[in-house]
Amino acid sequence: MQQADIIRQIYSQDIGNEAIFAPMSTKLEILSPFDGQKVGTVPVATAADVDKTVQLAHKTFRDWACRRTPFERYQLLDHLADLIEREQEPLARLISQESGKVIRESRIEVGRGIQITRMGAEQARHTGGELYSCDVTSRQTGLTAQVHRVPLGVIAAITPFNFPLSTVMHKIIPALATGNSIVLKPAPATPLTAVRIAELLKEAGAPDGLCSLIHGDKEPGEALVTHPLVRLVSFTGSVPVGKKIASLATMKRITLELGGSDPMIVFDDADLHHAVKIAIEQRFGTAGQRCNAVKRLFVHKQIAADFIVMLVGRVKALRGGDPLDEKSDYGPLIRESAAIELETRINQAVKNGARLLCGGKRTKNFLEPTVLVNVAENDSLMQQETFGPVLPIAEFDAADGLDDLIRRANGTSYGLQASLFTQRLDVIKRLFRDLETGTLNVNEGPSLRIDTLPFGGVKDSGLGREGIYAAMREMTEEKVLAL
Ligand code: NAD
Repeated sequence: MQQADIIRQIYSQDIGNEAIFAPMSTKLEILSPFDGQKVGTVPVATAADVDKTVQLAHKTFRDWACRRTPFERYQLLDHLADLIEREQEPLARLISQESGKVIRESRIEVGRGIQITRMGAEQARHTGGELYSCDVTSRQTGLTAQVHRVPLGVIAAITPFNFPLSTVMHKIIPALATGNSIVLKPAPATPLTAVRIAELLKEAGAPDGLCSLIHGDKEPGEALVTHPLVRLVSFTGSVPVGKKIASLATMKRITLELGGSDPMIVFDDADLHHAVKIAIEQRFGTAGQRCNAVKRLFVHKQIAADFIVMLVGRVKALRGGDPLDEKSDYGPLIRESAAIELETRINQAVKNGARLLCGGKRTKNFLEPTVLVNVAENDSLMQQETFGPVLPIAEFDAADGLDDLIRRANGTSYGLQASLFTQRLDVIKRLFRDLETGTLNVNEGPSLRIDTLPFGGVKDSGLGREGIYAAMREMTEEKVLAL
């Protein structure tokens, strides 16, 4: 498919029957991070557009969404899954075009999107409640209480650039499965996949205002999270923006899925080949731009030399290039400033005593996959989130127990996921108890996420949980009928 086939020009934003035409000055051009070519255009929403959009979402919630039966919600989402399945390849190409992600990974992301939609559709049929007797004291009422889970109303969702489809589906699907309406602001760098999903949802039968999109960055984002009709803000993105949103969204529910600096820990009894393969896939996939990647690697000193030789040899063979080329292993970072920032941090770490084993070179927004050892514990590569293809490896020695390893693994402000490679049950139990994270994956990397299960972090990595079942709970509240 040629570039021109994918260019999407979305000059107007439908708010009900009223098309709001964005003046030229408020157009946002979406450029490919690979070659700078235009992939599409979206209009930037003003505060007045945001207000109209939320008002319509509220009306659609009251008049339509909250009146659907579980079967009707199932039908809508199941139909959406069929339409996404029909469009798998064009959607994968659009993700690669706008985000720079290699096509192999974009196809996996679309596959995940279909599964999230099918599982959410199925779950929509299982929304129920609980039954309690009211006769629990000496005062007999003869009543029985039904505890229903009811939708909240308008959900506001804000998503980051790196997973233009799956982060979007993790918000839209549970919102609609539970009878809410949703207003989504996708990342300004990668909004086009979300636009296509909203179009497919309309084709599946969704009325105006059930799932509306607004575009832009901070200003429409803040207008959305502070709107009085918004009942829950579901945010995925960086820690500073998450904290800002938490300070703005007063008297609203809030879910924050933020950054991470996930540790991967490899013990001396681990399957080395498997651990090396996972470390490479889960640090250098998506050019390192994922929240739950292998951001710090701790390897037992008995096997460190073999592990590092095997890993570095394979990292050097990774091929950067055009995201649409089937042979590319990694694409560019989303923007050149991100690559420059990482290059600066690598150089600073080397000045501070770290040893560069491979990579470190930058060409525009491409950064070579980089591996370092001897990185100081207080270096920014160990302390801050590293959103790019950079892997610091540190050795550990558990001869005197696990306290020091646990201290080092917990030694950042983040706490998203962690991973451990060992067969030792005592080690697994102790690390599960003491690692400050939302998940511990054993003999798997930290990027493993099962889309139905609770996903989220502790400390600065977030508040609340996503994943279909958990998000459906967050997007509903209990209402009691005593009868
Ligand atoms: P970002 O925080 O810069 O932007 C995220 C979204 O917030 C964008 O849509 C942006 O326009 C919007 N935004 C920015 N300022 C705002 C404001 N003041 N009010 C309202 N909205 C505002 O993040 P990014 O660079 O797009 O994505 C990378 C970050 O996302 C990383 O930190 C990564 O770890 C995190 N992330 C987390 C998860 C997770 O599930 N925990 C998943 C993917 C990405």
